[in-house]
Amino acid sequence: MPQPGRVIVVGSVNVDLTMRTDSIVAPGATVAGHDFATLQGGKGANQAVAAARAGASTSLVACIGADAYGESARAALRDADVADDRVRVVGESPTGMAFIQVADDGENAIVVVAGANAELSPADVDAAFGEVTGEPPVVVLGLETPFDTMTHAAREASARGWTVMLNPAPARALPSDLLPLIDVLVPNEHEAEALGHSTIDDLLAAGTHAVVVTRGAQGARIHTTGEVTDVPAVAVRAIDTTGAGDAFIGALAASVAAGASLVDAVGAAAHAGADATTRMGAR
Ligand code: ADP
Repeated sequence: MPQPGRVIVVGSVNVDLTMRTDSIVAPGATVAGHDFATLQGGKGANQAVAAARAGASTSLVACIGADAYGESARAALRDADVADDRVRVVGESPTGMAFIQVADDGENAIVVVAGANAELSPADVDAAFGEVTGEPPVVVLGLETPFDTMTHAAREASARGWTVMLNPAPARALPSDLLPLIDVLVPNEHEAEALGHSTIDDLLAAGTHAVVVTRGAQGARIHTTGEVTDVPAVAVRAIDTTGAGDAFIGALAASVAAGASLVDAVGAAAHAGADATTRMGAR
């Protein structure tokens, strides 16, 4: 049994307000909703909770607003054993929010207000990284917080010899100079198409060590230079696939931090991803 490792997630915190309606509301219209729920979300927070659940000593570097939603997000992190000392309250912005409308035919419409997530700064990263002693962490980065902050975190973590994992979500192209700083890039199939390099071999040639493409019920595909390894999905009865990717990434980071090989870590991550689909909600 490997020793638990250490994971630092630099990322987003959102509170999701979800509601169901007969159909997606048209411009100017009012519709009656039902089954309203307030759920904890934000990819960074979801991934941190998943890493802690997978046994890693986990901390989150993030920003929340000075409001009740921020307090609820912090409480949920603590409940999940995620260290929240570097979750900063910003006075001027609300906690990040997602307004999620799900129609009875399964279609959805989502508004995300970044709020405090837009305030996450290189100084937040420096403060968190500066207090790390001992065991080198795996650092997990995403794109729901400012790009410059993410790039700074990748550069600083890489300079310290720490493992850097990037989930390029929401999807966008990545500049070439970022790629050598990334040890493991973890896009889903849609994000992989949006990376702005014509093939995954181009990403590897630019210096990224490994690309793990998550493929929903098809499992995951690991690309390293000259090698492609398929890791099958775990067969489950999926109810809600929201957050499968976040569960996968958190568990992947925890396994890598505990010293597992990438293939073994992806296997553990596939279990966590599959498990997440068997329950409602992102966590
Ligand atoms: P995202 O949530 O980012 O779109 P995926 O849908 O690719 O990510 O899911 C991430 C991982 O979770 C997959 O690689 C797979 O291992 C697991 N997973 C997702 N959907 C299913 C499913 N229906 N059955 C089993 N495993 C799944």
